[in-house]
Amino acid sequence: MKAAVFGTGRVGQTIAARLAELGHTVTIGTRDPETTLSRTAADAMGTPPLAAWAADNPGIEVARFADAAAGAELIVNATNGSASLDALAQAGAENLDGKVLLDIANPLDFSNGMPPTLLVKDTDSLGEQIQRAFPTARVVKALNTLTAELQAYPARLPESGTVFVSGNDPAAKTTVTEILKDFGHQDVIDLGDITTARGTEMLMPVWLRLYSALGTPAFNFKIVR
Ligand code: NAP
Repeated sequence: MKAAVFGTGRVGQTIAARLAELGHTVTIGTRDPETTLSRTAADAMGTPPLAAWAADNPGIEVARFADAAAGAELIVNATNGSASLDALAQAGAENLDGKVLLDIANPLDFSNGMPPTLLVKDTDSLGEQIQRAFPTARVVKALNTLTAELQAYPARLPESGTVFVSGNDPAAKTTVTEILKDFGHQDVIDLGDITTARGTEMLMPVWLRLYSALGTPAFNFKIVR
């Protein structure tokens, strides 16, 4: 499948490389490739600059959001949650039309320090905002409830956990579920329509406290039933 992964941070780098490893044709999307590739420092989360990652992943093109999206069948949103609507607008609604849009972003607000709060919650979610802004995109919220490495390589935990899909389009959820299974996720729960993204986005306050208590992001939720 031809995929455009929007986001040059830890999630974008990890998911783009994993999709390519599985045989997909991947372009990673950014605001301005020249600017992004000229960065030499790690980001605030310690993620290496894109140029170092690109040197290790020569088969993955780096392009502006719109150019990455133009020929893609699958779009992955791994941009900062406070900027996802802007990033997707830069891609152009026409380039998202009819496409499966896997949304991994969390609407986190770091402006008041740690832990971050949610920019949207309870009666709305970032997943819904994206679906409303781009009504012909087939938005599926998934993978936002675990750290990037485990999104792509869940088998690195000693036992399997649970991931979730939320979206209005059953065929798009099937496509995303197949990708999640290819990544190694064994338990994928379909929560329902895109409004159920409120639930997984609101897991973030719990996830952040677990991260703090456990001292590692290498954990996942497991729904026992
Ligand atoms: P991030 O630092 O949150 O986001 C980096 C990306 O956001 C870059 O591609 C950047 O574009 C883009 N961006 C930032 N400001 C922008 C703006 N004003 N307009 C357009 N694009 C903008 O990266 P991350 O840590 O990989 O997280 C990505 C998303 O996944 C976030 O929503 C995060 O909450 C969620 N998430 C992260 C993890 C994790 O393990 N880190 C786990 C679950 C979910 P440029 O490339 O142009 O700089």
